[in-house]
Amino acid sequence: MTKVYYNGDVNDYVLANKKVAVIGYGSQGHAHAQNLRESGIDVVVGLREGKSWDQAKKDGLAVYTVREAVEQADVVMVLLPDEHQPKVYKEEIEPGLKPGNALVFAHGFNIHFSQIVPPSYVDVFLVAPKGPGHLVRRTFTEGAGVPALIAVEQDVSGSAKDVALAYAKAIGSARAGVLETSFKEETETDLFGEQAVLCGGLTSLVKAGFETLVEAGYQPEVAYFECLHELKLIVDLMYEGGLAGMRYSISDTAQWGDFVSGPRVVNESVKAEMKEVLKDIQTGKFAKGWILENQANRPEFNAINRQESEHQIEVVGRKLREMMPFVKQKQAKEVVGARA
Ligand code: NDP
Ligand code: MG
Ligand code: MG
Repeated sequence: MTKVYYNGDVNDYVLANKKVAVIGYGSQGHAHAQNLRESGIDVVVGLREGKSWDQAKKDGLAVYTVREAVEQADVVMVLLPDEHQPKVYKEEIEPGLKPGNALVFAHGFNIHFSQIVPPSYVDVFLVAPKGPGHLVRRTFTEGAGVPALIAVEQDVSGSAKDVALAYAKAIGSARAGVLETSFKEETETDLFGEQAVLCGGLTSLVKAGFETLVEAGYQPEVAYFECLHELKLIVDLMYEGGLAGMRYSISDTAQWGDFVSGPRVVNESVKAEMKEVLKDIQTGKFAKGWILENQANRPEFNAINRQESEHQIEVVGRKLREMMPFVKQKQAKEVVGARA
């Protein structure tokens, strides 16, 4: 078993006299900045003027332009959208970095795929909470935390890993457990997980099930409940008790169907395709496509996004959720920060 670090394994002093600049105040940024502050860390926020700037000010944080924030900080945590990071880094972050600073990320994409190439005189590491920012904040206020991965890419000071652990503790993650990884492993597994299972695999499975029922003449509303709505209950059970915990709670009929039909649906050919998806991630083919798509202002992304929102499961779902106020409420609060 790989080592899991908790609060007791962390040297707080490596971060105690340092100033942290949190760049960005979105899903992750607001959570990191507020948690760090409440852990007694000297924190400033780096932003452009706009919505986030106003919000961070309202939350009582010291807000500066990105360049100003970087210039006064020892540790710079980059929490901008991954697609915008290379440009902001080149223009406003890199010019402000001094020898001995630490440059930190919450996802390894830009370092691993060389979209950001830091100078040789700074530490480069990763603290990646394995959950959306709003959960990082909420669990912290409840005395708990979201588990995190740390990784060290460049260790000039000799204490990069200790600072990474201290940072993870200050945002609450060492209450839940911190695992060490590499930028390569974090980036490739994160992309694979969201593409093959969590987001891509799941949405395609749900749509295929829904379409099969509707094409066979069943009511779309009933198909929606069976193939989408009930997922939450199943996932909660898996989260708490793994596959066995979920299977313990469902009927024996459902469990037998799981055993005999599951492997027919997600069969060897699906797994062979997953291996191809993984290969595209490992070779940089996926990254290249996504970088170019962004440079072209996302024509394909926007077109697919529009088509998807018009799919029958979405049209039916919007109507049904209107009739379920308890679902609606939850949505407004949580969906904002729910990114894989
Ligand atoms: P968000 O999209 O939620 O937030 C982006 C923030 O960056 C906003 O405050 C935005 O401010 C600001 N911003 C955007 N462009 C600029 C710019 N040019 N100059 C200054 N500020 C700018 O990002 P996330 O929190 O989702 O992602 C941040 C990082 O965390 C990424 O690396 C991501 O991979 C990683 N991560 C995210 C997770 C998540 O659940 N969301 C989970 C784990 C890691 P404005 O209001 O001005 O647009
Ligand atoms: Mg059923
Ligand atoms: Mg991701």
